[in-house]
Amino acid sequence: MVARRAERCSRKLTPRRARWVLTESGYHTPVEEYLEAVYALSEEGTAVIAARVAERLGRSAPSVSEMLDRLEVDGLVERSGRTISLTNTGAALATTVIRRHRLAERLLVDVIGLEWHKAHSEAGRWEHVISTEVEAKLIELLGDPATCPHGNAIPGATPRPRREERSLLGFVGDGTVELLRISEALEQDVEIMSALERASAIPGRVVEVRQGPLGRSLEGASGVVTVSDELAAMLFIGTEVQPIGERLLG
Ligand SMILES: [Zn+2]
Repeated sequence: MVARRAERCSRKLTPRRARWVLTESGYHTPVEEYLEAVYALSEEGTAVIAARVAERLGRSAPSVSEMLDRLEVDGLVERSGRTISLTNTGAALATTVIRRHRLAERLLVDVIGLEWHKAHSEAGRWEHVISTEVEAKLIELLGDPATCPHGNAIPGATPRPRREERSLLGFVGDGTVELLRISEALEQDVEIMSALERASAIPGRVVEVRQGPLGRSLEGASGVVTVSDELAAMLFIGTEVQPIGERLLG
């Protein structure tokens, strides 16, 4: 009894977790999120300006410009006019966070069995706490995957020949195609992602595309989903097209 009481008394109160948790890399979570956003925007070919970063992170313009000032002082980003780019240090950190994010997504979907449309937001928490040692174990466990479950390349994975792709927006007409990739920007939209998943219109699967008055309809193995032009610009397909009803080769 006495020992138990003593043990209870000695237990320290855990302080409430600060909003800015220090991550595995030693930076605060928002720092990694900003760098990740800049990296992802430039990967998508979007001009990286403060307004795009604010949109991507769902933050106000003043808080974004304040944070960008800090990141510039810390030598993680540089600005030329309105354009923001990562310094070498910033890029190295962003690449690590993105790699851990995409590996976590693979673990969540392939091993843990989490639904595909939920993996992105879940991995958004994991990416900050995975250590170098665990990252190496994940690569081994998952067999050094080339892409995340959304088809985006995992930085640092063993290079493999990349499939040629084009945006669905550039595809006119009807046909059977393979979905290869979904823009990182779309991954945040759980509603659209779950609609795509319900239809099995996800990377690695074959879909039948038909042009209709409301946009393109994508018929997957388990349903149909209609996408606007704006969405079609965020979906990428293989270059091979077969008439509807015929199977894709390979
Ligand atoms: Zn993701």
